[in-house]
Amino acid sequence: MKTKAASAWIWLAVLLLAAATALLLPVRQRQRELLASAIGQARELETVRAEIERARLELPPTAEVRQLRLENAALPKLRNEVRQLRERREQQARETLQQLANARERLLSEKQELNDLQTRAVCIKNLEEIDSAKHQWAAVNQESSGARVMMDQLAGFFPNGTVPVCAAGGHYSVNRIGAPPVCSVSGHALP
Ligand SMILES: [Zn+2]
Repeated sequence: MKTKAASAWIWLAVLLLAAATALLLPVRQRQRELLASAIGQARELETVRAEIERARLELPPTAEVRQLRLENAALPKLRNEVRQLRERREQQARETLQQLANARERLLSEKQELNDLQTRAVCIKNLEEIDSAKHQWAAVNQESSGARVMMDQLAGFFPNGTVPVCAAGGHYSVNRIGAPPVCSVSGHALP
């Protein structure tokens, strides 16, 4: 009787264990699946990471990087060339300025010469008018060579009725009849 009761207890325990196991089984299964999935994802991630790293290391330097390296190496030479270029340009600019200054000087000098020539030509024309007025005055007044005559006496014999003036500021000496009138400026003389 005692043995029967014990046996019943054992069986009950076995049944309970079986029931518990049966209840826990799907949960364990699910945990295993999740774990497997997590491990799989982690491995995949690791593989991708390794691939990226390998690709990064194997990647040849881009054209931009190569260009930058080349430029970096060539920088001192380029700087030197830029400096030389700048110096050459400054030198050229200085030379051009000097040439312009010289040309301006030449032009001013030529302009002055031209002015002098024009003033001289006008003065010689004035001297011719004075000489002509003297001849007319001598004829009208029946005067001959050696007669004295003053500028104001000639006023009426000039084409526009006024005494001519030297544009260079020269002073006219009428001189006696028979002698040519002269201007005090050098070069202003009748031929
Ligand atoms: Zn003159």
